[in-house]
Amino acid sequence: MSNLMTSYTKDIDVIKISFAGPITETSLFPALNLEGVKHVVLHLGEISYINSGGVCLWSQWIREFGENHASSMLILDHMPYVLSRYIVAIGNFIPKNSQIKSFLAPYYCANCNVESNRLLRAGKEFSTSGLDQELLATEKTLQCEKCGQIMEIDPLIEHVINLAASLF
Ligand SMILES: [Zn+2]
Repeated sequence: MSNLMTSYTKDIDVIKISFAGPITETSLFPALNLEGVKHVVLHLGEISYINSGGVCLWSQWIREFGENHASSMLILDHMPYVLSRYIVAIGNFIPKNSQIKSFLAPYYCANCNVESNRLLRAGKEFSTSGLDQELLATEKTLQCEKCGQIMEIDPLIEHVINLAASLF
């Protein structure tokens, strides 16, 4: 069985961590030295799934940012659907000092029975300003590449955008 892979780079005051693979109860998370660090960027797009044991470990690891490193900003990039589900459902799944920079949003074509993931970026595909947080027009009516019909937007997308807007 494959394990969670992480890679870690530090450049003066920015730490970048990429995750790939499944997050389970046996996953190992990188130790963090956040002294003098302003931004921690988590690239999450290659996470394949997370089980309940993984949710526990993730929560413990990420809590550290909010409790001990409130002056640094945690930036979530390419957040996958498997994590968005928990972030929307569990209040403290991500700390207050975090921002959702982009997330992978599933769209569905009922005609072809296919799902397609689109990257929605804050300030690009969705707005985070004030109360008018919304998908920008082109993403509202995404056409299926195969048949040209309008694809259905997953209802979770709206919740993720609302949450993202509340963090900015
Ligand atoms: Zn289609």
